[in-house]
Amino acid sequence: MHSISRRGFVVSAAAAGAAFGLDGPMEFVGSAFAQASDPKLQDKGFFKFKVGTVEVIQLYDGTWEKAHDPAFIKNASLDQTKAALKAGGLTDAHVPIPFTVTAIKVKDKYVMFDAGTGGQAAASAGLIGKKDLMKAAGIDPAKVSTIIVTHFHPDHIFGLMAKDTNAQTFPNAEILVPSAEYKYWTDADVFKTLAEARHGLAKRIQATLPTWKNIKQVEAGKEVAPGIRSVASYGHTPGHTSYLVSSGGKQLMVLGDVANVPALFAKNPDWQAGFDQDGNVAQASRHKMFDRVVAEKLTVTGYHFGMPGAGTIKKDGEGYAFVPMQAQV
Ligand SMILES: [Zn+2]
Repeated sequence: MHSISRRGFVVSAAAAGAAFGLDGPMEFVGSAFAQASDPKLQDKGFFKFKVGTVEVIQLYDGTWEKAHDPAFIKNASLDQTKAALKAGGLTDAHVPIPFTVTAIKVKDKYVMFDAGTGGQAAASAGLIGKKDLMKAAGIDPAKVSTIIVTHFHPDHIFGLMAKDTNAQTFPNAEILVPSAEYKYWTDADVFKTLAEARHGLAKRIQATLPTWKNIKQVEAGKEVAPGIRSVASYGHTPGHTSYLVSSGGKQLMVLGDVANVPALFAKNPDWQAGFDQDGNVAQASRHKMFDRVVAEKLTVTGYHFGMPGAGTIKKDGEGYAFVPMQAQV
């Protein structure tokens, strides 16, 4: 099954031409085999691989079984949504939205990208804490020197703070945040442009991050830590940022939420999730980032790509497909 998922198949030039008016062959990825999260890896809770000399650790924080809601995708019907889930080999009883945190080991220290849900974003999530997965993966939380944040949605930052007290989970780590994201959410005027449902989030951000001494704002398009560059991928939130990790001539793009569940939003990059604050900007970023990682053949991780949640993006018809790397459990 895994070997099939990696291979894809090529439609003949004639067939592709007939279907799409194209001259050359067009590759379709066998998405029914490619898009689902691996249940064995979910049970294990972590997955490791290498990019150059850097060890990458994927930590599984759980899956939110999101009830269907016609407002979830602005420009797709529920029937289209269910059909896309099914075509991706997923259940269509609900939308399964997994959370996977990417960490890297640099010498004897760890850099984490986002912090997980902290058990505060969906009842079924928070497994990193509940199952002590950092320890299981051999990560001493005291050795997390840096946490690099893609954006300020709850499933990405609530792992930084305790549920009732807001006490820092990683008080000794430096927390790097995109400057555009920080400025937006901490602006007193944010409530004028933010959907009502997000006001509580903005208040919590304003009550915590500005009071923390270990927060450092980083600009887009810069080296933010050794071998790690920030790449603006705005739209999902005003300052949403991806990160490019380079080691030994190899590169990994930590996409963050450039796309939510790939069976829906890689296959249909023009679908706009209700979570995307500016749907049109997010859509443009999705194409730009996916075109780049396809052209440069980069390894990627996606926060909502399940487990292993790491692999490559390929063109798939008029959209894209996420092709997970082969993982031995
Ligand atoms: Zn997210």
